[in-house]
Amino acid sequence: MDNQYFKWQKISSIPISALQHYIYCPRQFALIHIEEIYEENVFTIQGNIVHKRVDNEKNYYNKDKKVENSLPLWSEKHGLYGVADTVEFEDDEIIPVEFKSGKKKNKLADDIQLAAQAICLEEMFSKEITFGYIYYDKSRKRREVVLDEKLRKKLDNTISFVRDLLIKRNTPKPVNDQRCNNCSLKDYCLPDLASRIEIYLKELK
Ligand code: SF4
Repeated sequence: MDNQYFKWQKISSIPISALQHYIYCPRQFALIHIEEIYEENVFTIQGNIVHKRVDNEKNYYNKDKKVENSLPLWSEKHGLYGVADTVEFEDDEIIPVEFKSGKKKNKLADDIQLAAQAICLEEMFSKEITFGYIYYDKSRKRREVVLDEKLRKKLDNTISFVRDLLIKRNTPKPVNDQRCNNCSLKDYCLPDLASRIEIYLKELK
């Protein structure tokens, strides 16, 4: 077997949160998961408060429905691990529910995170999962996410890209766009440094 296979094995377990960071910005993923830099800002703190609240919720059981909070997840097949905020077991369905701060919105990073949780649950319980929900704390609304082929393909691609970056240990260039305004790593990343240097060099001429 080639060297690449052994490298793949060495980093075979990827935290589900890494996929979400990669979708938001590949450089943010690399700063956190390769360079091990992490910093909080108002958005990460709001997210932590929502997750803490879910962590403190008691599990719930009755004869028709079971709700598990903070359920550990893993997939040997896909090399993933993480924690589901909430998983509902009802009418022979398994439904992952991810909690987010803020208002209801479509966001690919959240859908990928939910899909990754779903494929872990499928392996753990040997059961197909067809949908899940993202719950938005501020608007108190759920958004249904259908786990169709298109989303599963995007998830597979994301896992491959993330694994590849972890093997190569490359930190991509900054995106330097509106994503940087909400990013807690802005002060470490210096996303506009290259353009500032360019302007400075032009002024010297
Ligand atoms: S500041 Fe911008 S480029 Fe840098 S990690 Fe954050 S989102 Fe990515």
